Amino acid sequence: MQIQPKASHFIDGQYVEDTDGAVIDVIYPFTGDAIARVHAATPAIVERAVSAATRAQKEWASWTGTERGRVLRRAADIMRERNHDLSVLETYDTGKPYQETSVADATSGADSFEYFGGLAGALTGEHIPLAGGDFVYTRREPLGVCVGIGAWNYPTQIASWKGAPALACGNAMIFKPSETTPLCALKVAEILHEAGAPPGTYNVVQGMGAVGAALVNDPRVAKVSLTGSVPTGQKVYSAAASGLRHVTMELGGKSPIVIFDDADLENAVSGAILGNFYSSGQVCSNGTRVFVQKGIKDAFLARMTERLKGVVMGDPQDPTTNFGPMVSDQQREIVLGFIEKGVAEGAHLVTGGKAVDGSGFFIEPTVFANVTDTMTIATDEIFGPVLSVLDFDTEAEALARANDTPFGLAASVFTKDLARAHRMAAGFEAGTCYINTHNLAPVEAPFGGSKMSGVGRENSKLAIDHYSEMKGVYVAMNDVEAPF
Ligand code: NDP
Repeated sequence: MQIQPKASHFIDGQYVEDTDGAVIDVIYPFTGDAIARVHAATPAIVERAVSAATRAQKEWASWTGTERGRVLRRAADIMRERNHDLSVLETYDTGKPYQETSVADATSGADSFEYFGGLAGALTGEHIPLAGGDFVYTRREPLGVCVGIGAWNYPTQIASWKGAPALACGNAMIFKPSETTPLCALKVAEILHEAGAPPGTYNVVQGMGAVGAALVNDPRVAKVSLTGSVPTGQKVYSAAASGLRHVTMELGGKSPIVIFDDADLENAVSGAILGNFYSSGQVCSNGTRVFVQKGIKDAFLARMTERLKGVVMGDPQDPTTNFGPMVSDQQREIVLGFIEKGVAEGAHLVTGGKAVDGSGFFIEPTVFANVTDTMTIATDEIFGPVLSVLDFDTEAEALARANDTPFGLAASVFTKDLARAHRMAAGFEAGTCYINTHNLAPVEAPFGGSKMSGVGRENSKLAIDHYSEMKGVYVAMNDVEAPF
């Protein structure tokens, strides 16, 4: 399997290189070795991508929704057929274990292309009858050229989650992956074009923030969808605002998991594992503040410690490995810094807490207990395998403390009390809530954040509203009456 891509960028249906762009070495997080090299887009590359997308979008929008959908569904089929190779590549790009990538990345991308491919032919307007036989009809119009900017944790999924609804609605897309994980989005572009998307409908350009900023500020761009941190979101949102461009912002979080005494212990521990240690904790919707009611706390900590003995660290390409390294040395240092702060501020380190000697940017799965609301590990997004347990007594207290954060991406409750579960879900100030599970993101359901965690929703039928706009057409059936 080829890891070094044919060229850095994919524009107008082909691989394109410009070695004048800054060098970006792709580091495999398990070995620290450079496994590929790409170049950041130069202004000439950015121009080429925006021109190609601007031209291609008009043709693509003239296709019927059914024709566009056929291409997307074909892309979904190709992604599934190549799941193994795409998963191996995702593992090289991110360091996430193959055991995860083979079921969560290209498969999620394929779901997205299949779902939005299926919806494409069903996107219609409505007829609004008016007095005297006049009427208005609405047309669902694409926005134009959309820019997608990705984070490094789910490079295939993010490229697909943004590309599928954008293309279904008749837009063209230019996607800029994170410089840390530049490889996978190129494969998404390649597959879409193999499936029949006209050249220029889905383009990939590499680069750091400056390339993203150049795209966001281009007057030919109609919409920007970013997956990234809150500070980057604030910058991109304000740049997009100057051109009144549409935005979707999928940003960071510090989500709560609330576990009541009556919860099924095994499920609660499983949910907290999914919400803290999947992808080695590098998931935006992680439930990193685990509020555990006092009566179940000791049992929860004991069972969590026991279950963590099942962690298998090692070569992420080995299918038996279930826990990978951090995406980069830099991210490992950031996370270790948070762990140090947790200890210094008085949290009780139950297990983990250290980098792992040997190959790979590994950090042990880490659990803190006796964490209080104001400790840094309870207020800041860590983006690593660090779980904080906070004790509580009452439902009202748990809800108030769960909501006491500027973030609002996800929240979950574990309880057997049906009424309480729904009360909590209604009370959570978060865009994506769970009852008795955490961190699932099926394409059929809306995904996204409230408060500082984001604007707009990805997935589900709602994503269509974020990649299209309604035009109203008034049709007069009578003479025009004017005052003079
Ligand atoms: P960053 O915010 O650092 O970067 C996100 C992307 O934005 C990167 O491609 C980055 O480029 C680019 N970028 C940076 N500055 C600018 C700018 N001024 N204009 C345009 N683009 C810019 O996030 P990370 O990659 O570090 O990802 C981690 C963050 O992503 C976490 O906060 C996490 O919570 C969030 N996230 C949110 C998700 C969600 O769905 N809500 C899902 C996954 C992650 P480059 O890095 O190449 O310089």
